[in-house]
Amino acid sequence: MEIQKIFAKFEGNATAPLPGLCMELLEEQKKNWPELAIACRELANVLTRSVPCGSYDVFIQYNPQREVSSGAAVDKESIKNRPCFLCTANLPAEQKGIVYHNDYFILCNPAPIFDKHFTIAHRQHKLQSINSSLVDFLELAHDLAPELDIFYNGPACGASAPDHMHFQAIPAGQLPLLKNTDKQFRYIKEINGVNIYAGKNLDRSILLLEAKSAEQLENQLRKVMQLLQKPLTTSEEPMINAICSYAAAKWRVFIFLREKHRPDAFFAEGEKRIFISLGAIDMAGVIITPLIKDFNNLDASLIRSIYQEVSLSEISLNRLIEEL
Ligand SMILES: [Zn+2]
Repeated sequence: MEIQKIFAKFEGNATAPLPGLCMELLEEQKKNWPELAIACRELANVLTRSVPCGSYDVFIQYNPQREVSSGAAVDKESIKNRPCFLCTANLPAEQKGIVYHNDYFILCNPAPIFDKHFTIAHRQHKLQSINSSLVDFLELAHDLAPELDIFYNGPACGASAPDHMHFQAIPAGQLPLLKNTDKQFRYIKEINGVNIYAGKNLDRSILLLEAKSAEQLENQLRKVMQLLQKPLTTSEEPMINAICSYAAAKWRVFIFLREKHRPDAFFAEGEKRIFISLGAIDMAGVIITPLIKDFNNLDASLIRSIYQEVSLSEISLNRLIEEL
C-alpha cells in the first residue's frame, strides 16, 4: 500500500486507543478531502422524524446522499463490471485510512448516515463473509468501544460491496433497538456462558447473544449460522445483518434474520415504488430513504409490514431457538 494512504497504524489499545485515532482521521479528512467535508455538512440538513409502531419506535431519515448506496445494483454482473470502491487502488486521491493489525483499513464513509461513520475494509479484495471474519468482528467491537458500535451487512442483504469484505462503525447509542433491550427482548436460555434473548413484538426476527468470553460467543454465533444454513439448499451465506457493541466487559451481538434484502415495493413502478433498502441500521430502527415522498408517506402500518416482509418468519425463528 502506498505510504501516503496511511493516516495511522493501530497495533493495540495500549499505544493509542482506536476510537481516538478514528476521530483524528475524521478531522483530517474533513480538512483535506472536500467531498467528505461537503457530505458531513449536508448531514446537518437531513430530516428525521419518529414513527411510533406499537411496541417500538422507528426513526425515518431523509438522506438524499444515500441514493447511490441504497439503490446500488448488487447483482453479480453489475458487481463484476465496476471498479471496486473499497480496494485501496481505487480510493479517491485524498482518502486516507488507519491500518488495523495489518488486516483491515479503516476509512471515513463518504456518504455518512451519522456524524461519525466509518467503513472498515479488508486489505484484500475477498468476498463478504461473516464466518471467515467472526473473530475480527468481535475484536474490532472491543477495540472500537466505548465510542463506536460495529455492524455487518450480509452479501445478499445490505452490503453494497458484496465482493469486498467490510464492516461499518457508527457512534454507540444511536440505534433505538440497542437501547431498551430489557423491554424489547425476552430471555431464552444460557448456553456455555452465552445468554440468548429474542426480540419481543418487534415485527422482525432478532436474536441477541451476550457473553463475557469472545471465544464462547464465537462458538454460539457459528452455531446460529450453521442452523440457518441448514434449510438453505445453496452454499451462499444465510441472510443476516449483525451489530455488535462492547460495554461493561461484555459483548452483545444482535442478529437480524432475513428473508429478503429489499421489499417488493422497492421494485414497483411509479407511485407505488418505495425507495428503501434495508441493512443493519434500518433493521435496528433508523430507516433511511433518499426520497422526500417516501419520507412523508412511510407510516406505522407500512413500516410494520415491510419489517415482516424482509424478516425470517417467526415459525423459523422459534424452530432455530429450539435447536440451539
Ligand atoms: Zn475490492
